[in-house]
Amino acid sequence: MAQNIVTEEKVIEEVKKAVAETLSSDVAAIQPDNSMIRDLGAESLDFLDINYRLEQAFGIKMARHFILEHIEEMFGEGTAIDENGQLTEKAVRFLQARYGDSFPGFKQNMDMDEVPALFTIRTMAGGVLDILDTLPEKCSQCGNAAWKSDNGVKIICGSCGEQAVFTNGDDLIKQWLTKIQDDKKIC
Ligand SMILES: [Zn+2]
Repeated sequence: MAQNIVTEEKVIEEVKKAVAETLSSDVAAIQPDNSMIRDLGAESLDFLDINYRLEQAFGIKMARHFILEHIEEMFGEGTAIDENGQLTEKAVRFLQARYGDSFPGFKQNMDMDEVPALFTIRTMAGGVLDILDTLPEKCSQCGNAAWKSDNGVKIICGSCGEQAVFTNGDDLIKQWLTKIQDDKKIC
């Protein structure tokens, strides 16, 4: 529903902008399938900055913990990452179920340290879009369904002007893992 208001193209554009500002690079040179680390030279700390810029732009809360950490927390130590720091078969099944073809490259026994290099501009945009998709049907302030966006980025209520509130990124991952568990698709 949010995608009628904020398009994928617009989200990709905003991610590029956040990355360019963080890394002081030329936004025009950034491609959607560029790896943030391998192609654009981002370091771990840069992700905090990029996330912060996206949160400010869209009025959302990005996940602080990657899905692998949530799997370990929910299903026990060693379920996602084995004693050698490599992805387990279960972790790969989760990642493929969650990200599908939009996030290729996950393999069993892959070193955990290689995972961040798989993050692209498009992956980051996917994370933002997932959160935007939690847009409630109606405004919690006035009860009207009149969402709009003046700049194609931040969604506000067209009736009372209240800013939309979304599920935060970490809660969204937890909800998804719980659902997968209940469906017994993986566990
Ligand atoms: Zn309202």
